[in-house]
Amino acid sequence: MDHAFSRSTHDRAAHLRTDDQWRSAPGPLRILVIGGEHVATTETGGVAWIVEADLAGHQVPEGEWIFLGYLGDVRHAALVIDRVPAELRPTSLRMIGPEIDRDDASLAVHAVGITRWHERHRFCPSCGAASVPAQAGHVRVCAECGTHQFPRTDPAVIMLITDDQDRALLGRQPSWPEGRFSTLAGFVEPGEALEDAVRREVMEEVGVRVGEVRHAGSQPWPFPQSLMVGYFGSADHADDGAQIRVDQDEIAEARWFTRDEVTEMTSSAELLLPPNVSISRALIQSWHGGTIHGRWA
Ligand SMILES: [Zn+2]
Repeated sequence: MDHAFSRSTHDRAAHLRTDDQWRSAPGPLRILVIGGEHVATTETGGVAWIVEADLAGHQVPEGEWIFLGYLGDVRHAALVIDRVPAELRPTSLRMIGPEIDRDDASLAVHAVGITRWHERHRFCPSCGAASVPAQAGHVRVCAECGTHQFPRTDPAVIMLITDDQDRALLGRQPSWPEGRFSTLAGFVEPGEALEDAVRREVMEEVGVRVGEVRHAGSQPWPFPQSLMVGYFGSADHADDGAQIRVDQDEIAEARWFTRDEVTEMTSSAELLLPPNVSISRALIQSWHGGTIHGRWA
C-alpha cells in the first residue's frame, strides 16, 4: 500500500545526537521552521528548507533545535518555535502530507512527531519537576531527579474487515454527518497484541467476530503521537459472527459495502470516505481496486 508517511527515507544519524555534535558534523545544513503541526512551506505548497544564514532575514525567533539527520550529505534540522511567521506560510502537515515529496514527508513527520511530544511532556513522569530537552531534541531530562524521558508513540490499530462476499465493513462515528464512513480503529491496550486489539475493537464497536487478520502497513500519525497499524481481517461467519450489532457509543452506524456500492455512492456523494492522507483511505482503496470518488473535507 502506498500512502502518506509510509516510508522513512532519511538517515537519522542517531550517533550524532550527543550534545551539539550534529552542529559540527560535515555537510550543509537545511532547516525546517516548525510550530506544533505547522511547518514553513514554499509558494508552491512544498516544505520550505532554509539555510542558517537566512534565518535572521525571515525574523525567526530563538527556539529549540531537533537534529533530524541526513539526506545524502546534507544535514537536516528543525527549529521549533511557538508560531511560524506568516511570511513562511505555516501549514499543517496533515494538509500537505499527500502532496509533498517522499523525502520531505519523511523529515517533516519526524520533526512534527518530536515537536508534539515536547509540547505535551514538559514535566518529569517520576517526580513532576520540569524537564529539559537533550540529545538534539530526542530526550527530555528531569532537572531534579535526572530521569530520562523518551519520545512516546501510541499504537492504534485500523482495520478493513471483509465478509464472505468480500464486502467491506465501514462505520460512522456519532459525531459525523450522515453518509460519512471509515474503517474501524482503536487504541491498543497495555498487554495486548496488535492482532487481538483488531478483534477486540471490532467486537466492541460493531459486534462482528473477526477471524484471520493480516498486516497491511503502518503510518506514523503525529497528531499528536500515534502510530496507525493497518490490518485486513476476515469476519468469522460461524454462529452469526458477521452480524452487525452497533454499540451506539463509539459507532452510530455500520454496514457492509460492496465495491459497486462504494463506486456508485461515492460518485453521488451519498457516501463520503476519508481523505487521501489517511491510511484508512489506503486500506479502502486497496480493497476496492478501482476508482473511488470524493472524500470528506
Ligand atoms: Zn524527576
